Amino acid sequence: MTYFPRNPSPRLWIRQPLSCADPAAANGVVIQDSRIVERLAAGQEPSLPVDQVFDASQHVLLPGLVNTHHHFYQTLTRAYSAALNKELFPWLTTLYDVWANLDEEQITVASELAMVELLLSGCTTVADHHYVFSDALESAIDRQVETVRRLGVRAALTRGSMSVGRDQGGLPPQSVVQDEARILDDSSRLIQRYHQREEGAMITVALAPCSPFSVSRELMKATAELAKTEGVRLHTHLAETEDETRYCERLFGLRPLDYLEECGWLNERTWLAHGIHFTDEEIQRLGRAGTGVAHCPSSNMVLGSGLCPTLELERAGAPLGLAVDGSASNDHSNLAEEMRQAMLLGRLRYRPDQIGHDDVIRWATQGSARCLGRTDIGGLAPGQQADLALFRLDEPRFSGAENPLAALLLCGAHRADRVMVAGHWRVIDGAIPDLDLGALMTRHHDAAQRLWRAL
Ligand SMILES: [Zn+2]
Repeated sequence: MTYFPRNPSPRLWIRQPLSCADPAAANGVVIQDSRIVERLAAGQEPSLPVDQVFDASQHVLLPGLVNTHHHFYQTLTRAYSAALNKELFPWLTTLYDVWANLDEEQITVASELAMVELLLSGCTTVADHHYVFSDALESAIDRQVETVRRLGVRAALTRGSMSVGRDQGGLPPQSVVQDEARILDDSSRLIQRYHQREEGAMITVALAPCSPFSVSRELMKATAELAKTEGVRLHTHLAETEDETRYCERLFGLRPLDYLEECGWLNERTWLAHGIHFTDEEIQRLGRAGTGVAHCPSSNMVLGSGLCPTLELERAGAPLGLAVDGSASNDHSNLAEEMRQAMLLGRLRYRPDQIGHDDVIRWATQGSARCLGRTDIGGLAPGQQADLALFRLDEPRFSGAENPLAALLLCGAHRADRVMVAGHWRVIDGAIPDLDLGALMTRHHDAAQRLWRAL
């Protein structure tokens, strides 16, 4: 038998970006297959010949942005009149009645639109928290997996749950709460079927009760046990409003974080959405446990929920990521815009010299990756996945900007020119190749109208 030497895969040099979030990559990065193989400092050339060069001299280069919390289905109820100008609990009870009618066709098109919106904003890893399951919506996560694969994005999909409905004193209608054995069986099924454990995983599955008070204590504990046995992550909403703190104290006699700990959740496997209303001692406890927080600034402003103690959490050692949250409380899915919001909102809590554009870029990349338990994304180091976001500064809003990296946040970047996921260009010239965006928006708007009319 004759062996022929295998041709090495082509090497692509993303050459000399206008500016880069990582100063160690001032001369760009070299990509081979799905990974970064070289990071080039100023003046440094690739060590081996390259096959292709992408001239990035007009682009600001960032590691692909990582979103840590969303509810894709909520794109169907953006700016919904009956839910406007409300705080979290009345907002939720108003919308639950609408969401209870969701079907699989609607979740499919809503997920596609949300992922497209994220991708176009420079996001390469999307996370979704889907907790609305009814008889008409058993396979929501399966439909999302199909869409993730078709778009070629990286995803952390979470199997949400609600088991305490209005009949038991909870917030959601009975039609969207499920039997607890069924929730656990389906969680196991989804992990076996879709969760990838290898480095460079494109799809991971995590377990995510909607909130500690929308499932029973037994289910919170059983979910933590299942996550430990299966080696998957845990996610839920926590400490979003003062109402929630009072609700937990009344229901369980405990503050939300104490209850979380009692249920076996306070560990490095968990990341929490919002994390606003913590005491100093609780922040230290989160840091020691390595429990992450997904900061959702726009949603917190829309619902008037409060200011996340981002710097204290990060200083305490808690992974701190960024997220757009669901599109009924943001109401966009644009992670680049969310970076600007995080910086501006942070300046209401901290001095300008304590929170800069580089801090927020770190949260949206490395910090978010840590929340999802990943070291293979969120940076530009050799060996990491080739997930990149490149922005041009050729719109009027950037004209006259002296510092290109700061301009992304200060002038309000909202659309990436190029996005690469696992070595493949998924956005070229600000568009997704092979996607008829107009047709998708028509289908999405039709699905939204059908949902509003079902009420
Ligand atoms: Zn949320």
